[in-house]
Amino acid sequence: MFVKDPCGIACIITTYIAVLYADHVVVRWIVLHTMPDSLWAAFHVVIFNTMMFLMIMAHLRAVCSDPGVVPLPQTRMDFSDIHSGNTDDDHERDDWTVCTRCETYRPPRAHHCRICRRCIRKMDHHCPWINNCVGEKNQKYFIQFLVYVGALAVYAIGLVISSWMYECPQCSNDIGIEQLRMLHSAILLVESILFGLFAVAILVYQFQAILEDETAVEKVQGVYVQRRNKHAFALLAQVCGKTHPIFWLLPCNCHGPTRYSYKRDYPLIDHEV
Ligand SMILES: [Zn+2]
Ligand SMILES: [Zn+2]
Repeated sequence: MFVKDPCGIACIITTYIAVLYADHVVVRWIVLHTMPDSLWAAFHVVIFNTMMFLMIMAHLRAVCSDPGVVPLPQTRMDFSDIHSGNTDDDHERDDWTVCTRCETYRPPRAHHCRICRRCIRKMDHHCPWINNCVGEKNQKYFIQFLVYVGALAVYAIGLVISSWMYECPQCSNDIGIEQLRMLHSAILLVESILFGLFAVAILVYQFQAILEDETAVEKVQGVYVQRRNKHAFALLAQVCGKTHPIFWLLPCNCHGPTRYSYKRDYPLIDHEV
């Protein structure tokens, strides 16, 4: 599902320009200039680019994967009973709600996204940076993306600051190149601080939402959700997958996020999810 939202597409292009620029500055202007004959150069290039690769994989998965779109009904549904207030059919007795825009019944905790124009299971919010909703099935990748952005920002800030403390052997006799190096590393520093703070701020909100088991949409709407899972680990595993936490940061779907069990948590439901 690709969302045709100009703001989202612009944000994705901005993200990739920023990523490519940061990689260029770190490799070309910091590592190769300040440690040309050192093994540290290879170390930093490999580690920085590996983290970059993992970040891009997490981002692509968050962008391209289905956030948990509620399927549309095969046939047009009759909502006349709902509009007349006469709701005595099967759906009335459980927590399923009706989306009048999708014209379908949706499971508990699903919400309609106006940008995606569909209902999303356990929707948290629509994020232009991934041009997709953050929902039940892709929240894990979204969090991985933020973790890698934050880590790369700290790494880049460290590299910029250390590069300013050492004399550059290559450009100490060429003031023009030296000034260009300073300019690029200053831009990288500002970029890293902005993106790093942004990522950390959203991460804090994401973890808060997971540990309180309340999505951003539910927080805004003041919806009460029946919570059974009280343990932090169980709540995190619900999003990141029921596997060892060491795999939680791998952007692969080998141990994908566990699907919210509506049947277990909402025992009155008797139809297939
Ligand atoms: Zn809807
Ligand atoms: Zn959306």
